[in-house]
Amino acid sequence: MLDILEERLVPEAVIDEFEALSKDAGRVQIETLKKILEQNGETEYLLRCGLNGRTDSDSYKTFVPLVTHKDLEPYIHRIADGEKSSILTGKPITTISLSSGTTQGKPKFVPFNDELIESTMQIYKTSFAYRNREYPIGNGKALQFIYSSKQFKTKGGLSAGTATTNIYRNAEFKKTMRAMQTPCCSPDEVIFSPSFNQSLYCHLLCGLIFRDEIQVVSSTFAHSIVHAFRTFEQIWEELVNDIREGVLSSHITLPSVRRAMADLLRPDPELADTIYNKISGLSNWYGIIPELFPNTKYIYGIMTGSMEPYLKKLRHYGGGLPLLSADYGSSEGWIGANVNPKLPPELVTFAVLPNIGYFEFLPLREDGKHEAQPVGLTEVKVGEEYEIIVTNFAGLYRYRLGDVVKVKGFHNSTPELQFICRSNLLLNINIDKNTEKDLQLAVEEASKLLAEEKLEVVDFTSQVDLSTEPGHYVIFWEISGKAKDEIMDECCNCMDMSFVDAGYVGSRKANAIGALELRILKKGTFRKIMDHFVKLGGAVSQFKTPRCVGPANNTVLQILSSNVVKRYFSTAY
Ligand code: AMP
Repeated sequence: MLDILEERLVPEAVIDEFEALSKDAGRVQIETLKKILEQNGETEYLLRCGLNGRTDSDSYKTFVPLVTHKDLEPYIHRIADGEKSSILTGKPITTISLSSGTTQGKPKFVPFNDELIESTMQIYKTSFAYRNREYPIGNGKALQFIYSSKQFKTKGGLSAGTATTNIYRNAEFKKTMRAMQTPCCSPDEVIFSPSFNQSLYCHLLCGLIFRDEIQVVSSTFAHSIVHAFRTFEQIWEELVNDIREGVLSSHITLPSVRRAMADLLRPDPELADTIYNKISGLSNWYGIIPELFPNTKYIYGIMTGSMEPYLKKLRHYGGGLPLLSADYGSSEGWIGANVNPKLPPELVTFAVLPNIGYFEFLPLREDGKHEAQPVGLTEVKVGEEYEIIVTNFAGLYRYRLGDVVKVKGFHNSTPELQFICRSNLLLNINIDKNTEKDLQLAVEEASKLLAEEKLEVVDFTSQVDLSTEPGHYVIFWEISGKAKDEIMDECCNCMDMSFVDAGYVGSRKANAIGALELRILKKGTFRKIMDHFVKLGGAVSQFKTPRCVGPANNTVLQILSSNVVKRYFSTAY
């Protein structure tokens, strides 16, 4: 009992700590940079920059250049290959994270260390403390759709896996989940199973077994929750049967998973009947989450950015449960916590934690181009958009993350950022410029026409096709059923008209951009794309459907083009 009390997180203390840090964000940033540079001043990289032991921000900005992942790649590869010298960090790097790589088409290697674990736990605890103030939970469990990626050893013997896998495998993760009263209801064998399908099946089964104890349904990115319940719609009878008989389906073949699940499964016809009746009472699966898990207080996961398109389905499954959008970070490190949990996901902002890294912001002009010099964390202006530059405790110095954010306000003196888009995810042919968000809005507008036919867009992506003269936008849709050609023609026209950016409209009118093309994909195409990323070493937990597929993303382009069943061209202009 004492152990539990000692372990439990004290939300007030966490809130006090963040309030103090954020009130003093400017000074904390200076100290954080100093600490990073003191720890790593003797590294080959910083010596080469000529920093010579200086730890102040002016010298740092003068001597150390802005870089992208490509610039650091040779250094990171030498670390991965086992070179022992201090290349990027004073302390040796023992683990490599693989970013999901959905943008570039292949996972990137980034250094990972204990400081990143520490900041992950800090951000989890911070947002939990604010969340718990508004939506308190008691003792219970979480149905977490979390998955590990394959882990492997690099040439130099460092362990490599996705950042989420590195975190889930760390003892601190479990401790923090217990402290937050939301331990995962599934055993480790399920989380770390090498088969995504078998993990998902068992996560759902564990959720049902512990249905009364589930307080939170969550995943890292919201896509995994939607995917899980779409799958549930297909396999629920098999799950109910397992509960009735107390025997795990023969589809689950991994011995470690079978053993772990055998400890939990007992024949329970009463529970099986309850679940069966609950499901029979549903209309089109609306509200399935609170029906199956009646004590759920909220649904939690990253719902912003490329996850926004899944909100509609999530709200449908959630049947009125609060949707709480999770924090903002990347394999390169965390950035900000959602400390205003009551905001709907569309309006969520992230308050930057000023002690987990040193942050700079490169201003973006109206036309999306960069302007002048980056500014510091406390110098950003409300309403302006910036690209984020990260310096962290794991060997990244003035690293362009590639994300665009907008400053919506301040929490004390630390900015609250809204995620806008990946800066390289733009549809652009001529003078047009459409972001991931513009694409999302166009798809949403057109999918209203589908909704009238009781159909929905399961997922979507896009491509710029320059093989035609003039080039044109291609939008790919996977839809839930078959729609009439007239409806699809209308959807295609509607999307073309929904890109309201003046550059696009002007170019369309002048025929400098050709008619927008809508390509319909076979059912299951996006699943194939996800499988492809998982094969490359990515994890489902970090999967994000690429919303725009560039020419470098060859395999995805191939998967898309070989699964097209129908094409429509806009006649809107
Ligand atoms: P990865 O390192 O592969 O997990 O991808 C990190 C990227 O995911 C970030 O650079 C963002 O583009 C995106 N991302 C992470 N957190 C959020 C969030 N809360 N909202 C929107 N996008 C996010």
